[in-house]
Amino acid sequence: MSATSESSAVSSSRVVEHPGHGESFTEHMISIDWTEGRGWSEARMTPLQELSVHPGMIGLHYGQVAYEGLKAHRRTDGSMGVWRPRDHALRFQRSCRRLAMPELPVETFVAAVDQLVLADESSLSGDPSHSIYLRPIMFGTDTSLMLRRSRNYRFLLMAFVAGGFFGDGIESVSVYASHTYSRAFPGGTGDVKIAGNYAPSFLAQREAEAAGCQQVLWLDAVERRYLEEMGGMNIFLVRGHGPQAQVVTPRLTGTLLPGITRDTILTLAERLGHQPVEERISLEQWRTECERGVMSEAFACGTAAVVTPVCTVVDRGTTWTIGDGKPGPVTLALRTALTDLHHGSAPDPDGWLHSPAGR
Ligand SMILES: *Cc1c(COP(=O)(O)O)cnc(C)c1O
Repeated sequence: MSATSESSAVSSSRVVEHPGHGESFTEHMISIDWTEGRGWSEARMTPLQELSVHPGMIGLHYGQVAYEGLKAHRRTDGSMGVWRPRDHALRFQRSCRRLAMPELPVETFVAAVDQLVLADESSLSGDPSHSIYLRPIMFGTDTSLMLRRSRNYRFLLMAFVAGGFFGDGIESVSVYASHTYSRAFPGGTGDVKIAGNYAPSFLAQREAEAAGCQQVLWLDAVERRYLEEMGGMNIFLVRGHGPQAQVVTPRLTGTLLPGITRDTILTLAERLGHQPVEERISLEQWRTECERGVMSEAFACGTAAVVTPVCTVVDRGTTWTIGDGKPGPVTLALRTALTDLHHGSAPDPDGWLHSPAGR
């Protein structure tokens, strides 16, 4: 499915120099509608504009809203590369299925991403730490306050220019283990990217900030012992030192989001000669291994966070530092390996970097 464009020639005047994160939108958006009986409409590209919705729209009241987040980077040769769009399309399908919503075909998802990236790439400066963050979203559009699933849906694709998520440069972050709230539970929705997962985390985030931390570290909801993730990023720990180090991340138990960056890091760890390990690890065990000097690095990863070192943990009034509190060598090597792939300056045997195809 290719999109018809309602906009005139693409302006090349709007290069974003200081993007921040989440507000420097690019100029266009793509819309596709789904109607019961008729399926998907043609994609339409228009200037980014406000929506007009009925106040009784189902998605707004009952949370039938799923989304994705993926990035396009400028390669060192100047062309654009989209990072693993098919994997994001497949996860989007899973998220939509979980909310009893229709699934957008992978090809349609990728074609929409390609079209928007090519239309709006001129907003991206030459700064290699900047990227175009793409935000696909789908929601139920029926006007009804009956508690039921919608029969009509809208898919939208918009984008913003992204700088560093935690500011420029490689900053370490501190994390706050939440013993008050849970993000996800068995049988719930923690393993999909739906809007309803995020609003309940804001209060915990406020608690973390009040304790002087940047991020919440979520524990499993049943025993409140095991590490899960960070609410928008997955977590990794490094056990041991040098080439023999293990690169450890919590196993996917159905309550954490299977991050595409997480998956990439597991592969890159192996490529760098480390041992990738998925295991169930408790906060207690992590702390003990840190105290014994066995674990000396930790980092968060995600499309937005890329690879962000974690330096400090706050757990019920006690605080511990990981390693010497500075970004560690394994973390930095993985970060470089990842960003080299993003920019097309490292071999890409898995074909993860996708070249947007013009129509
Ligand atoms: C998006 C997200 C991640 C990171 O996933 P990526 O595919 O690597 O961007 C991790 N946890 C949660 C809860 C998320 O929403």
